[in-house]
Amino acid sequence: MLQHEKSVVVFSGGQDSTTCLFWALKQFREVEVVTFDYGQRNKQEIECARGIAEELGVKFHLLDMSLLAQLSPNAMTRHDMDIVHEDGELPNTFVEGRNHLFLSFAAVLAKGVGARHIITGVCETDFSGYPDCRDAFVKSLNVTLNLAMDHNFVIHTPLMWLDKAATWQLADELGAFDYIRERTLTCYNGVIGDGCGECPSCKLRLAGMNAYLDKRAKGESS
Ligand SMILES: [Zn+2]
Repeated sequence: MLQHEKSVVVFSGGQDSTTCLFWALKQFREVEVVTFDYGQRNKQEIECARGIAEELGVKFHLLDMSLLAQLSPNAMTRHDMDIVHEDGELPNTFVEGRNHLFLSFAAVLAKGVGARHIITGVCETDFSGYPDCRDAFVKSLNVTLNLAMDHNFVIHTPLMWLDKAATWQLADELGAFDYIRERTLTCYNGVIGDGCGECPSCKLRLAGMNAYLDKRAKGESS
């Protein structure tokens, strides 16, 4: 039974990983989170993640992944570049293989703290072209990690087939809609909650939330 087991959530303090954290808190006896410091544009992201972990009473691990800046200079790590997102192309915030690396480090940490369940908010539905967010990759990595460390990991991806509206619905079903709306940070400009409203991340988040709220209003009125 999952209720007796321990899990680690890959956690950024954003909407998706916070939804995963609430999901995990329902499933598992014990939950810890791991956040990665990779020289992200917004240092508030790390403090936001730490604050949420404290509020929800879960142990917070911070891993220094600043070497990513050496591997992939781009808009997330070099503050003198603007974020550009052309339709149909990878945004230039892309760090090649980042999710692969994060999940692999999360697995080492998870085994170290006696957990075999790893939860990640990756999503194939609006995966923005990141190949290491796809379901086939995550399943493949799960097998590889089990062989690499002779451990029975299970990687959970509760958001894999959800769009942003459905992710808001899941948050609502978990009783966490308002918390996630008010406390999480997904905005590229570092504005917690509904964000700046202008950046690509805010537009995606708000469009999904409005779509879900429309659907909920119709459901309640019918
Ligand atoms: Zn924004």
